[in-house]
Amino acid sequence: MVLASAVVLVVALTVVFTLFVRKQDLPQPEPVSPAQHLEERKAAIYENLRDLQFEYRVGKLSDADYQSTKVGLQKELAAVIAEIEKTKVGQASACPAPVPSKPKPGTVCESCGAKFSEPMKFCGKCGKAMS
Ligand SMILES: [Zn+2]
Repeated sequence: MVLASAVVLVVALTVVFTLFVRKQDLPQPEPVSPAQHLEERKAAIYENLRDLQFEYRVGKLSDADYQSTKVGLQKELAAVIAEIEKTKVGQASACPAPVPSKPKPGTVCESCGAKFSEPMKFCGKCGKAMS
């Protein structure tokens, strides 16, 4: 019976922990759409540049027209890329990667679970050899 209640407790704790973590990890729907919108904008500008180059090559555009339109599109593209970088940086700082605090090897007894501040060859509590 003791084991059964221990299992129930562990399961309950796992469920609570999972729900808690899921809630925090869920991406906010708001920041996703501006980034996607920017990616679409970037793709559209690339397409415009390709079209422009094609029209220039087939002789539809004068050299001056081609240059001025190209510079305008490149400026727009640079602005869009800068915006994309900004959203990426914002997302990175908004949710920093969790740093797990891992105990030093030899500081936790595998037999009894006793913890020590310094690595030990033998457990000070149960006397068993520690790795
Ligand atoms: Zn021990």
